[in-house]
Amino acid sequence: MNHRNRTIGFVMVLLTLAAHMLTGPVPSLLWVALPVTFLGWPVAAYRLASKSSTPLQAELWNLRVDALILGAWASALGFPLWIAFVLFVGATVNLTAFAGLAGLVQGVAIFALGALPAQAAQGGSYRPETAGHVTALSIASVTGYLLTVAYEAYLRSRRLHEMSAKGRASEEALHRQLEENRKLQTALREEANRDPMTGLFNRRYLEPTFDRELARCIREKRPIALLVMDVDHFKQVNDTYGHPAGDEVLKSLARRLTAGSRAEDMPCRLGGEEFLVVMPKMPLATALERAEAWRLTFASEPIQTGAGPISATISLGVASFPEHGETPTELLEAADAALYRAKLAGRNRVELALEVGHGPPRPLGT
Ligand code: GH3
Ligand code: MG
Ligand code: MG
Repeated sequence: MNHRNRTIGFVMVLLTLAAHMLTGPVPSLLWVALPVTFLGWPVAAYRLASKSSTPLQAELWNLRVDALILGAWASALGFPLWIAFVLFVGATVNLTAFAGLAGLVQGVAIFALGALPAQAAQGGSYRPETAGHVTALSIASVTGYLLTVAYEAYLRSRRLHEMSAKGRASEEALHRQLEENRKLQTALREEANRDPMTGLFNRRYLEPTFDRELARCIREKRPIALLVMDVDHFKQVNDTYGHPAGDEVLKSLARRLTAGSRAEDMPCRLGGEEFLVVMPKMPLATALERAEAWRLTFASEPIQTGAGPISATISLGVASFPEHGETPTELLEAADAALYRAKLAGRNRVELALEVGHGPPRPLGT
């Protein structure tokens, strides 16, 4: 990962040191050590890091070895100021970039540690001067090195920025997906509660909803009315005009029920040509008026179908809490029985359910 940087940096340092060493007498051992440390070590460091199971950790160790080598060289040459500066920057900047403040402290300490043996061997030597061209080379080395580090930092922050932008985009996509799923779920739930032909609620929706609404009205001591209706002689309609025309009659009835209902009413298709409307908080007298109005409109306004206008009538049974029962079953049975009586009495009429026990209606909430 750091291989290319180390190789280029070390070659620059090698050239700078060689230029300096050429300006004065140096032990021949240093000429041998020069290629070993600045050409050999980068290759070894690369192998060590790439073979390691934890390359980042291995590279951190390589950087520590760098600091040790650079400290040793600074010391062996007697700390020529510009060269020591180059070596010190090389030892500390990368470690700081890798490991923060701890890296800086380690870089300084290891650099000093590396300097110790050569200083001890030479009995402490200090030769700070460098020739003009060596100073220039040193400045070029440090500048090149720092620019490389800065460029790497730029590349890293750009990668980070791109990654966080990607993260944000996928997070937004996930949110959109979740929102779509939620809408789909709502649509599916709604579909499961509706009769596909008329769009009215179905029996599956009616049962728990009626239970809940009745319980609420009982709790709040409010009435609730139930209206059951059936198209008269519908079989004849089908036989005369055909099944599709029959369907249109049912759809038209459903539209009229929806249009004539309040927001809180629940018009349902019980099955076939039988419908029901639950009307929470509606007094019996109003429910009867509503039933009569529906009967009248249906009887007086023929339905336009593909097979021509069809005049049909409906019969209705009306029941209400508290007069006709206290449970959904009691109320449904009461309304059904009323509808049956409407059929028996000649159809196209509204019949009121019989009061419980045929006695006077009980006051609300008792
Ligand atoms: P009544 O006055 O006693 O109610 O007589 P009716 O002919 O309406 O009653 P019956 O129960 O004998 O017939 C109901 C008919 O409704 C029979 C059935 O084919 C028809 N039907 C049920 N569902 C549908 C439907 O979705 N579309 C159409 N077109 N007809 C249907
Ligand atoms: Mg019928
Ligand atoms: Mg029927």
